[in-house]
Amino acid sequence: MSAHSPGSAQPGDEAQDLLRALIRFNTVNPPGDERAAQEFLAARLAAAGFECELLGADPGRPNLIARLRATSPGGDVGAGPTLCYLGHVDTVLADPAEWTHDPWSGDLADGFIWGRGALDMKSQVAAEVAAGASLAREGWRPATGELLIVTVADEETGGELGAQWITQTHPEKVRCDMLINEGGGSVFEYSGRRCYGVCCAEKGVFRFTVTTDGIAGHASMPGMGDNALLKMAPVLQRLAQRQPAYRLTDEPRELLRGIGEDPDDPAGAIARLRAADPRLAIMFEAMLGVTFTPTRIRASEKVNVIPSRAELRIDCRVPPGLGESEVRAGIAEVLGEDGFRIDFTERVVGNRSPMRTALMREVSTWIAEHDPGAEVVPFMLPGFSDSRHFRAAFPECVAYGFCPHSHQTLMSSAPLIHGADERIDVRDLSLAASFFRDLAVRVLS
Ligand SMILES: [Zn+2]
Repeated sequence: MSAHSPGSAQPGDEAQDLLRALIRFNTVNPPGDERAAQEFLAARLAAAGFECELLGADPGRPNLIARLRATSPGGDVGAGPTLCYLGHVDTVLADPAEWTHDPWSGDLADGFIWGRGALDMKSQVAAEVAAGASLAREGWRPATGELLIVTVADEETGGELGAQWITQTHPEKVRCDMLINEGGGSVFEYSGRRCYGVCCAEKGVFRFTVTTDGIAGHASMPGMGDNALLKMAPVLQRLAQRQPAYRLTDEPRELLRGIGEDPDDPAGAIARLRAADPRLAIMFEAMLGVTFTPTRIRASEKVNVIPSRAELRIDCRVPPGLGESEVRAGIAEVLGEDGFRIDFTERVVGNRSPMRTALMREVSTWIAEHDPGAEVVPFMLPGFSDSRHFRAAFPECVAYGFCPHSHQTLMSSAPLIHGADERIDVRDLSLAASFFRDLAVRVLS
């Protein structure tokens, strides 16, 4: 393993130019409209030596697959691993009235690049493309295996035209052994430690409806009928009071250990985290088990009719490895057993990649070199990313969320993602570009 990349190019400058250009393509999804941004990236990568293809179900919303194969004598694509850098080029919407800089300006000001997608995740795409393009232009090629850069459309609304489509429709084109995507890498500090989260696991989604029944009646006489909506009051009260008991899976156990806490005392760990930084406690607590969040309620169709039925929707997130039986246990624990009915509307089991792998060692070694004394710790994403589709399609693939940011911390980035004034510290963009360059060289040389 060499610690040095060939050549002396600084891919950070190229990543800055790419990011500013990418932000200026308005790819708010819906409608997404990603084609122009994808063609722009394809042109850059093709000029550097990548084989590029644009494939999609919707002509206006293609996915880009860019491939750099081994060409050295004896080098054989089949013999080595495929390392894939994954990103999405669509973004959520933005209201310019709430921003200091126009969200599609790509302005460079005060050491930051500003705009929608500056963190989620045009920055990582720009760093990945700058890394790959600069290596390819210098003549670097994998000794064995191949480097894939895949930028997809349609992540923000679930990936139906993006990662899900490409892994199901053209699995042979995006098959990979190792994958780096979004979901981790911003530094955080806790009790004297500097840590970088590597996202190894993503929660599943088991949404359900709680229904109460009653008898309809005229609303002018409250005692008439039997009001199903009022029966939701105790249900909501219980949901406000508590969550299901913690059920720590391997990743949060390792995370707590990594930050110097005892995984056998999660309540104590969360209390100490809360005292140190309530935002850290909120983020980490969501990784520790099944969670219930009530989000919608409906009852009578008419204001003058006492409802005979009320329905409460619960957004329930479940660690990988756990499923409906753990959710039902949580319901019994939090809501009891009587007075309502439960119907599941979604049952998607979460997925994960192993924590102890060659890829993790490379990430960990790189961080140790670039931020001496800092450590990597495993994260579980309380939500999910496109990695889920790749893990589902390629069970052997090790997929992590990681893009190193050492200046802009986890706590300072989190509120900007999907929020106003999204921006990235240009030093972190350079750091990320160096990381993606070094990782490709180390894994594929
Ligand atoms: Zn994203």
